[in-house]
Amino acid sequence: MSETLANLLQETRQFPPPAELAAAANVTAAAYDEAAADRLAFWARQAGRLDWSKEWDEILDWSNPPFAKWFVGGQLNVAYNCLDRHVAAGNGDRVAIHWEGEPGDNRTITYADLLAMTSQAANALTDLGVVAGDRIAIYLPMIPEAAVAMLACARIGATHSVVFGGFSADSLSNRIQDATAKVVITADGGYRRGKPSALKPTVDEAVSRCPSIEHVLVVRRTGQDVAWTDKDLWWHETVETASTEHTAEAFDAEHPLFILYTSGTTAKPKGILHTSGGYLTQVAYTHHAVFDLKPETDVYWCSADIGWVTGHSYIVYGPLANGATQLMYEGTPDTPHRGRFWELIQKHKVTILYTAPTLIRTMMKWGADIPDQYDLSSLRLLGSVGEPINPEAWMWYRENIGRGGCPVVDTWWQTETGAIMISPLPGVTAAKPGSAMRPLPGISADVVDDQAGSVPNGGGGFLVLREPWPSMLRTIWGDDERFVDTYWSRFEGLYFAGDGAKKDDDGDLWLLGRVDDVMLVSGHNISTTEVESALVSHPSVAESAVVGATDPTTGQAIVAFTIPRGSVDTSGEAGEALIAELREHVSKTLGPIAKPRQIMLVAELPKTRSGKIMRRLLRDVAENRSLGDVTTLQDSSVMDLISAGMRSSKSDED
Ligand code: ATP
Ligand code: MG
Repeated sequence: MSETLANLLQETRQFPPPAELAAAANVTAAAYDEAAADRLAFWARQAGRLDWSKEWDEILDWSNPPFAKWFVGGQLNVAYNCLDRHVAAGNGDRVAIHWEGEPGDNRTITYADLLAMTSQAANALTDLGVVAGDRIAIYLPMIPEAAVAMLACARIGATHSVVFGGFSADSLSNRIQDATAKVVITADGGYRRGKPSALKPTVDEAVSRCPSIEHVLVVRRTGQDVAWTDKDLWWHETVETASTEHTAEAFDAEHPLFILYTSGTTAKPKGILHTSGGYLTQVAYTHHAVFDLKPETDVYWCSADIGWVTGHSYIVYGPLANGATQLMYEGTPDTPHRGRFWELIQKHKVTILYTAPTLIRTMMKWGADIPDQYDLSSLRLLGSVGEPINPEAWMWYRENIGRGGCPVVDTWWQTETGAIMISPLPGVTAAKPGSAMRPLPGISADVVDDQAGSVPNGGGGFLVLREPWPSMLRTIWGDDERFVDTYWSRFEGLYFAGDGAKKDDDGDLWLLGRVDDVMLVSGHNISTTEVESALVSHPSVAESAVVGATDPTTGQAIVAFTIPRGSVDTSGEAGEALIAELREHVSKTLGPIAKPRQIMLVAELPKTRSGKIMRRLLRDVAENRSLGDVTTLQDSSVMDLISAGMRSSKSDED
């Protein structure tokens, strides 16, 4: 990307916080000033939310950048902070997890239950010879044992590496080998789309290539037949027979808590390393501030999978550190019907929902009449994470799920940042649809040009972080050099996130997607996000992915792959007319420079397993190249359909 990004999309709608929420909000505007006055003292106060066995000597050691140490000399136990202290405070009977299995079974787990389960798992792992510093791979469906396994590792100082349960044997064995894990915790299977989906055979194949693995602990979830090896142990015979008493030992604030591999949208997954004290401080603070969590009354639901960083930080560590009551759901949103999410919200009177734009756009495609059938009046706050959220998807979410009265917080962060970095504060910020607004108190983010100069309001460029933050990644596991090269080499002294962003006239931040996705059309840098948002602002469009394809006259030309909303007629002439109308619509919204050369109406888009659009594959299609690596795709058959459609559609030149 040269110079700056064009700033094409203008959005003037703005929604102040509801008065009632603002009056009782956990965090007020004063937090920005307090943090600005003394950033480190601010974070030290947030660390005071946790129970430390030993106070730190120094808040931040940044003497050897980019290798940070937070709360140096401090000691704590992460699992103790998520469990024991709540029970000790008399909240053992509070529900920690309302769990819903896909087939309709359910469990209610209190903090006392979760502590007992975690203590059993900690004792069992210790009996298997696991000691502090060992690595444990976790490959589980969305069942409570996934949280228990993570907390048990934290409790004994073992470093977990959770691998999403949809990954292949190759992906799993690569991750096990990279971390030289000693134990894998898995299940016979889990329920996906109405049927049991096996996990154990994948583990067996992976483990056969991983000599470091000594034991495989297997939770029985589906009851399906499994092959058995001499490394295998049943969870119910090992963990559930262990003592429920376990005394947590304190570890150093910088003790490794987990390794998590990034989703691999762009390149070979990187093993992002997070440590204990700073990480827990920032996830606890942000969960309190951004979701305005009231642990006594809220029912919180983050619909992410535990295999992604969102599940680590905002299902396990943040909510549990804060003593939240939460819903956890095993399955897919359309099983057994497309109202499942809303039915669960109605049943558990969920007050806070945190989900992804891909899900919101899918719900748009299915139609608002589905959520309309449920009582969603318990909801008071909505969150979004994972991709830029288009203004129209944001509005749809607010209107149809939040029924017009819930603030929407668009939260920007990454596996690498560990916790939310840029987001509205629900009781403070008058949010704009599609903008993540401002860095949180204590966070210093900026948008810079090629030369690392801060861009003025109204300009676009590269998103950077100027100061270290408590939950920052400490390195890439086993590869300090790649850590420095990937994140700290583009701009001297700044963390470069890989994302493009712009500042609007008020200085609020708009995330524009990855800089790798930016298009260069007739000398203008145009973000895919803005063109996608313009398309989604048309009432017939649910979702769109835009790529730049090589073009003899303009350098790159804009090619859009667009999913119409459920009720829209796309056959024959109606389809042709819609395409013409959409090209005109983009031209009117953003200017003629952004008019797509070509629009393809498609039924699905290629997405990663975490639901992000894979534009590089669409670029391959748009340029008639053979497809690149499709192994991280959710459903690789989608690409065959799109490629076939592309070949049969003639390009529609002006
Ligand atoms: P990889 O780095 O391996 O390609 P990934 O970046 O998709 O994988 P994550 O760390 O899960 O893996 O995702 C972080 C990225 O998601 C951010 O860098 C950004 O591109 C995007 N993102 C997350 N939240 C938002 C948001 N609120 N607005 C815009 N983009 C977001
Ligand atoms: Mg990334």
